[in-house]
Amino acid sequence: MNKIKDTESLCPECMKVLPAEIYEEGGKVYIRKTCPEHGEWSDLYWGDYKQYIRAAAFAADGKKLDNPRTKTEKGCPYDCGICPEHKSHTVLAIIDITNRCNLRCPICFAHAGAAGYLYEPTKEEIRGIMENLRANRPISPPALQFSGGEPTVREDLPELIKMAKDLGFHHIEINSNGIRMAESVEYCKTLKDAGASTVYLQFDGVTPEPYKVARGFDLLTIKKRALRNLKNAGFHSVVLVPVLVGGVNTDQVGDIIRFAIENRDVVRCVNFQPVAITGRINKKEREQMRVTIPDLMRLASEQTDGLIKESDWFPIPTAVPFTRFVGHIKEREYIDFSTHPHCGMATYLVMEGNKVEPITHYLNVEGLIKSVGDSNEKYESGSKARATASAVSGVMKNVKLSTFSKYLLPVFTEGSYESLSKLHHSMLMIGTMHFMDPYNFDLERVQRCAVHYATPDGKIVPFCTMNALHRAATEKKFAKPIDPKVNTPLYDVAALTKKIEEESV
Ligand code: SF4
Ligand code: SF4
Repeated sequence: MNKIKDTESLCPECMKVLPAEIYEEGGKVYIRKTCPEHGEWSDLYWGDYKQYIRAAAFAADGKKLDNPRTKTEKGCPYDCGICPEHKSHTVLAIIDITNRCNLRCPICFAHAGAAGYLYEPTKEEIRGIMENLRANRPISPPALQFSGGEPTVREDLPELIKMAKDLGFHHIEINSNGIRMAESVEYCKTLKDAGASTVYLQFDGVTPEPYKVARGFDLLTIKKRALRNLKNAGFHSVVLVPVLVGGVNTDQVGDIIRFAIENRDVVRCVNFQPVAITGRINKKEREQMRVTIPDLMRLASEQTDGLIKESDWFPIPTAVPFTRFVGHIKEREYIDFSTHPHCGMATYLVMEGNKVEPITHYLNVEGLIKSVGDSNEKYESGSKARATASAVSGVMKNVKLSTFSKYLLPVFTEGSYESLSKLHHSMLMIGTMHFMDPYNFDLERVQRCAVHYATPDGKIVPFCTMNALHRAATEKKFAKPIDPKVNTPLYDVAALTKKIEEESV
């Protein structure tokens, strides 16, 4: 056993902050902590030590918020947020617009029925939340996700999307189970016309089984119809979001990637989410369910016959030198994807006709980061000419020229959301973010979080502290009793599936 470092974590029983140790054993990385009351806890942190070390080298600091909303009082994670100690600004903002849902997934404890109250901010409260987010300095978040519950159960969702657009959010996504999208193409068009950029579609696999286990029903027909309707409504950048649970759908990683490639005209990204384990679950069951980022990378390689190798993946903060570089050229502030390197990884597949290859066949990512980093240092020391020369020589050495002129040049020269979007449309992003649970919680990670919930009390709260600690207290401040006449009933999944199947005959 080799100690890697000290950090802080939570006791999964009483949620107190505890000193914790991250260590290597048998080629894997674990986290361990001891609660004076509830004893020792250890859990798998990253399933491959070599990948852990490789990812750590890509750590990059981002810009703190100039205008935190809370004070440093009780210490992390009780001061969320955003408190003055937090190390990243908001990149993706999330607003839960309801806790009502038209499903009752066995893996979810958040819907109104299970919570025992209704949480549904009013339209004016949501406007206030958005204005608060837009006030972030030095940079406002460009991307907003409406989440829940199931956001499509709110009839005013299109109005909320339009409001977000009017307030300056460029990229607006809807986190959905896809039922309403599967019901009608007109509904999808309403979302598109209101200004929605994409749908973050829960998609657990390409066979009925994972849906039956995780969601309680076979939802596959509904997911496929939702995709078709979204495409017909003009969406071309849907994100498929599989929650990966050990023994449930870990054998479907390759099939999900192939499904995304086959549906490239509507799917732009697969964002695998290794399950975050909530509730009291014994160690043996946790070990069966637990999937970590390197496990996913290995499964992707094995199940795509090596199309995507483990070395093709890079941690999220890999993007920081590139956005800095575009910022220098355009003399503007850009967001920094400065999350912790062990929070998420991604790679791109470049698709030209029937040819599908990882982006590493087109450029040397490590070499390019180094030369872009050198160029940034020269810009920052005031030597623009030397910075430009260094960037040009770095690109010549590390990028195939045809790739550069086709995909990267517009991003560097225009630096616009549209040029980034064009780049995205020639590629399929395969990404992963492993949200934390109390068993593997690492305060170092959450202090760099760039995915932030915003709430009606004026707070902006990192995603993983919200889910592990703050959700119930925040929602209860605004909770209303559940009116059975208003609460959304369980959807008749079987009837919609039958209707779709009959239409398809
Ligand atoms: S997670 Fe961030 S915002 Fe919350 S208390 Fe810790 S440093 Fe502050
Ligand atoms: S949401 Fe959780 S996993 Fe993602 S960046 Fe924030 S702390 Fe990391």
